[in-house]
Amino acid sequence: MSRAADERVQWLKSSPMLLAHLLPLAAIWTGVHLRDVIICWVLLVVRMFFITAGYHRYFAHRSYKLGRAMQFIMAFGAMTSSQKGVLWWSGYHRHHHRFSDLQEDIHSPKKGFWWSHIGWIMCSKFHKPNYDLIPDFAKYPELRFLDRYWALPPTMLAIGVFLIAGWSGLWIGFFLSTVLLWHCTFFINSLAHVFGRRRFVTTDTSRNSWLLAILTLGEGWHNNHHHFQASVNQGFYWWELDVTYYVLRGFEFLGLAHDLKRPPEAALKRNLIKDGHTDIGMLKDLPGRALDALAQTAQNTKDRIVVATQQVAGSIFEATQEAAESISQVGRQGADSTSR
Ligand SMILES: [Zn+2]
Ligand SMILES: [Zn+2]
Repeated sequence: MSRAADERVQWLKSSPMLLAHLLPLAAIWTGVHLRDVIICWVLLVVRMFFITAGYHRYFAHRSYKLGRAMQFIMAFGAMTSSQKGVLWWSGYHRHHHRFSDLQEDIHSPKKGFWWSHIGWIMCSKFHKPNYDLIPDFAKYPELRFLDRYWALPPTMLAIGVFLIAGWSGLWIGFFLSTVLLWHCTFFINSLAHVFGRRRFVTTDTSRNSWLLAILTLGEGWHNNHHHFQASVNQGFYWWELDVTYYVLRGFEFLGLAHDLKRPPEAALKRNLIKDGHTDIGMLKDLPGRALDALAQTAQNTKDRIVVATQQVAGSIFEATQEAAESISQVGRQGADSTSR
């Protein structure tokens, strides 16, 4: 897949994000306390929940319902993760599902693993939110406000952590957990489309991975998710660990969330690869690979022709030179004998 000019990485604009990766190293000078590590772990897990339950399952997929106050809390909580605004994140995620692994897909690993993981965030093309992708939530002024001032929630959290735990708390508790949270989230765009097993035939390359499910509180069942996007649970069976779903069931029990959508039994039995259905998502990849192989063969053949032509030309040149030398030698000998 080709990349347009506005898909080039903007290093300067992305420098705050890159700098955040280095800031945890400042703990070399402050030291690390047990309190910092606990804050890091808690902020990683709690904010992962807000991302998966909020940005992903609620705002992007509407897989359950919330009241307006809870909706705001979910948006604010997810935004403390510093993954841009709620409308930006969820809108572009809807776009990913609409065009999974096609040329239009904003972060298909078919454009390269690095691109799908973080490159697409570092270019200018997807800098601004597209409210057309998410009009159902863009109609709320409080969400538009949050989306516009998306740096506010993480800044407030960072200040809070600093006031509680000082500099070492900031480096480890806030920045280290934020960086880890970023990459665990990004793994779903990159690794979950290249690593793991496929249960369902989907038109994309999504996979299921228990390891990613542990790291992301249930998002690793990505093939399940692409198969039935409206489902609030991404682990479809009891052995598919999905912590986000368990917490949301707790919310449901407490009356904080309602109308949780679960996949019907028929959906769990539909398009199973083990039933012999052709795996279109992977097949779609084959013509691309075949074309790449063909282009490589053509290039190799072209290279070989160029080398062979050069060799032939070299041989002709040498033979011509030798012939010319022999003729001139014969000529000289003839002239010598005539002069005698
Ligand atoms: Zn999704
Ligand atoms: Zn996906």
